[in-house]
Amino acid sequence: MDSKTILLGVIGDPISHSKSPLMMNRAFALCKLNMAYGAFHVKAEQLPAAIAGVRALGMRGLNVTIPHKEAVMPLLDELDESARLIGAVNTIVNEQGVLKGYNTDGIGYARSLEEEIGFRISGAEVLVIGAGGAARAVVYALLKRGAAKIYICNRTPERTAQLVADFSELGNIQPVTEAQLPDLKDRIQLLINTTSVGMTPNHDRCPLADTSWLHEGLTVSDLVYNPRITRLLEIAAEHGAATHGGLGMLVYQGAYAFEYWTGHKAPTEAMWQEVTR
Ligand code: NAP
Repeated sequence: MDSKTILLGVIGDPISHSKSPLMMNRAFALCKLNMAYGAFHVKAEQLPAAIAGVRALGMRGLNVTIPHKEAVMPLLDELDESARLIGAVNTIVNEQGVLKGYNTDGIGYARSLEEEIGFRISGAEVLVIGAGGAARAVVYALLKRGAAKIYICNRTPERTAQLVADFSELGNIQPVTEAQLPDLKDRIQLLINTTSVGMTPNHDRCPLADTSWLHEGLTVSDLVYNPRITRLLEIAAEHGAATHGGLGMLVYQGAYAFEYWTGHKAPTEAMWQEVTR
């Protein structure tokens, strides 16, 4: 670092587990950019001061993680369509004093599906399990990429109804109950778990009560990346389905943020290496 170094970082609570500093600093070094990225433990009551600090210090931007993704929105000057529709910001870009919020989680997920396993989103019918923040980001990106139809199944039906209402203008989206899932067997090409079910320490749990209908014509994707191969992915593989884990979403949401800040193409292979070390 020197007196010209451009500063960036990630804010969250907790934050000490974050792999983003390793991933981003490696990417800046590889692209020979004089930029540095830190992790900042910001409590909810300090969020306005932290954002004021970005302005005062002239930082180029921030990543924003739990629990600040929604609360940060009114503190910014502009919101991209992704952030507005999803209702959360994970990336802030400081354009000469104007702070603009984006959400790169969903588009990162879509790029991960396409680049890692060559899945064709355009025209696909997709079943999404869950209706939380990650589901909203994924649904946004899939509809923008031309998915033909999205079915949503969530434990709390009111949350499903809200998601369907919020995104129906972007495309074809329909709520389904768990009992209806086997009937979708020959309609869908992709099933995505966006719930936290199966995450360590509950790694023996599966978000589907009935997995008997999974088959080799399906791709099964899990946003959970800890463990890397979840119980759902294990079962899907036993049924011959193609599988896709959640680590790529982490890498590619960061790749988009890197590209917004720098204008350079992100070195995604090196970023992968950093999150899998
Ligand atoms: P969230 O907004 O809190 O939503 C949680 C979702 O999980 C809701 O749909 C919730 O259902 C469901 N759920 C939780 N416990 C459940 C249970 N015991 N049985 C059935 N459903 C349950 O959380 P989020 O931000 O969407 O995150 C969800 C998961 O995605 C987390 O595991 C997170 O680590 C992962 N994620 C991964 C990435 C990545 O980069 N790979 C990025 C973002 C998130 P209800 O509505 O019924 O409560």
